[in-house]
Amino acid sequence: MTEIDIVVIGAGAAGIAAARRLGELRATCLVLEAAAVAGGRCRTDHGTLGIPVDLGAHWLHSPRRNPLIGLAAATGARIGQPLETRYSANGSWLSDEDAAACVAHVDHCFDRIAAATQDGAVADLFADATSPWHAAFLAEFAAKQGLAPEQSSILDFARYPWEGDDLPVPDGFGTLLAGLASGLNLHLATPVRRVDWSERGRLRIATDQGDIAARAVILTVSPHVLGSGIRFDPPLPDWKRDAVAALPMGHCNKLALRFERPVFGDLAPCLVMPLRGARESVEFVLREDCRDSAVCMVNGPFARELAAAGAGAMRDYVLECLVEMFGSDLRRAAAPESVFVNWDADPFFGGCYAVARPGRADMRAVLAQPVADRLFFAGEATSPEFMGDVHGAWFSGIAAAEAAAASGQ
Ligand SMILES: Cc1cc2nc3c(=O)[nH]c(=O)nc-3n(C[C@H](O)[C@H](O)[C@H](O)COP(=O)(O)OP(=O)(O)OC[C@H]3O[C@@H](n4cnc5c(N)ncnc54)[C@H](O)[C@@H]3O)c2cc1C
Repeated sequence: MTEIDIVVIGAGAAGIAAARRLGELRATCLVLEAAAVAGGRCRTDHGTLGIPVDLGAHWLHSPRRNPLIGLAAATGARIGQPLETRYSANGSWLSDEDAAACVAHVDHCFDRIAAATQDGAVADLFADATSPWHAAFLAEFAAKQGLAPEQSSILDFARYPWEGDDLPVPDGFGTLLAGLASGLNLHLATPVRRVDWSERGRLRIATDQGDIAARAVILTVSPHVLGSGIRFDPPLPDWKRDAVAALPMGHCNKLALRFERPVFGDLAPCLVMPLRGARESVEFVLREDCRDSAVCMVNGPFARELAAAGAGAMRDYVLECLVEMFGSDLRRAAAPESVFVNWDADPFFGGCYAVARPGRADMRAVLAQPVADRLFFAGEATSPEFMGDVHGAWFSGIAAAEAAAASGQ
């Protein structure tokens, strides 16, 4: 059986950051990753459409405090400009006046959440909503959170700092992450099935490729995987399982298309939100990096339903939205291939990012706590501030690496 000091489970942002930090601390570590590539929820498809398409994370948020900006610069990765957001309804762009009224209402709702001091369901704050733009807020909320206001904790949402522009990575956020994993002691296509922590001083980690003994383990997998994808012997303590159950996964699924000729006229690259009612939270990144492409993000409970109906149903829906905005010639110009991803259906993720249930905002801190000074936890779900984000996962990986290394001294 292989023996190692620290095993990191998962080579997403948190696992890559943890392994890099352990290397700096001169701790011996091994990263076990279920997928055939590193990056986790940062993954770029290059082959299907012949252009880079990010299946997961797209934007570098909070640029002033995002360490991946500096790391991207150090590796020569391009960082794009922020995109203008445009709204459409019934196939037409909103007038300036309507767009201003819509943005004012949406901002007012987000300010109201940010000002709240007591936890509960976000929906409780808006029981009296009468604005004609409230459906736009609900769609934007699902786009940010992946769940509906009645499923989401007020304080969890309020703790996230909405600051600065969102910057795209034109050659792929996933490509950037995979590059940051190069040189790590990484075993790909190695799903962990069981973590046995019954023996004092030694853990046994069972994978499809055999068992590994370790002093400590850093688990960076999503709460979905902690709850149902890896068996713990003995089971995790009740307080930890309670935290896992308090942080279900939201939904954001994507479908990308390329067009064989220009279909967007003189439209500059932009983020478009067609207002299609409260239920249908849908956004498009159009003409990214001036390509003839559309990347559609469907969010919230609707994303789960639509992706479950399959790639064909989602492609039909995406084309219907685009034809409404740009005319039926667009349908004929669409290349036959689509990039489609259903994060909900992937057992190694179970959704897009974790969201605290109403009243359970403090469970992220509980999820982050180690068990028995040997099981350490990282990942976006444990981030106290940048939850749901790549850089939140990154910071959590560094913190877990330092704690795991210190526990051996
Ligand atoms: C559609 C979508 C859009 C997003 N947009 C953005 C965005 O614009 N900006 C942003 O900052 N964030 C965004 N996010 C969120 C961001 O991608 C995640 O918060 C972040 O990548 C999570 O990193 P992590 O290391 O915590 O987890 P993961 O990336 O989930 O890493 C965990 C790793 O563990 C592996 N694993 C799972 N089970 C096992 C097992 N049993 N054995 C071994 N390995 C296992 C997984 O394969 C995965 O590689 C988005 C996510 C999605 C899905």
